Amino acid sequence: MGDVLTTFLSARKCLGSTQGLRILDSSCAYRSPPMGPPGQPNYLNAVVLLGADMETEILLQHLQDIEKQHGRIRTEEHWGPRTLDLDLIAYNDTVMQTKHLTLPHPHMHERMFVLQPLCDIRPNWRHPVLKQTARELLESLAATGVPHLEERRTW
Ligand code: AMP
Repeated sequence: MGDVLTTFLSARKCLGSTQGLRILDSSCAYRSPPMGPPGQPNYLNAVVLLGADMETEILLQHLQDIEKQHGRIRTEEHWGPRTLDLDLIAYNDTVMQTKHLTLPHPHMHERMFVLQPLCDIRPNWRHPVLKQTARELLESLAATGVPHLEERRTW
């Protein structure tokens, strides 16, 4: 919801100015059709590569604080319209599952809007459980008939 590109720029700035985090790379921003409840506007998706010197759970806390600073209100509705959603896709080769955090993100390999931007910046990153690269995961997903995202822009 809202002026999403402005939110993206502001959120990236916040990430880069958080102590212990630095921006190393950013993908293009892709328009994608909504998942979840019908009648939502399209989404905008991007992947940012961070250098991080902190525990994974602390990093997730920072992401959620930045969501909140950008007007994110957590409701019961899953996948409903929102101003900003920052997910942790992976953290090096970490494989973990706690109450608050699953790494790599459990749905990353099923989502074109994750794999396509990830391939912009790290096509050779290898999923530590599935043992496939981002490029291979993207090709596997495309082979199931999921279309590539057409509309992208720099930001
Ligand atoms: P979301 O609605 O997508 O922002 O995420 C809902 C919940 O998923 C959050 O409260 C997190 O605790 C949990 N979660 C589990 N794994 C992850 C992950 N890899 N990245 C972000 N959130 C996660």
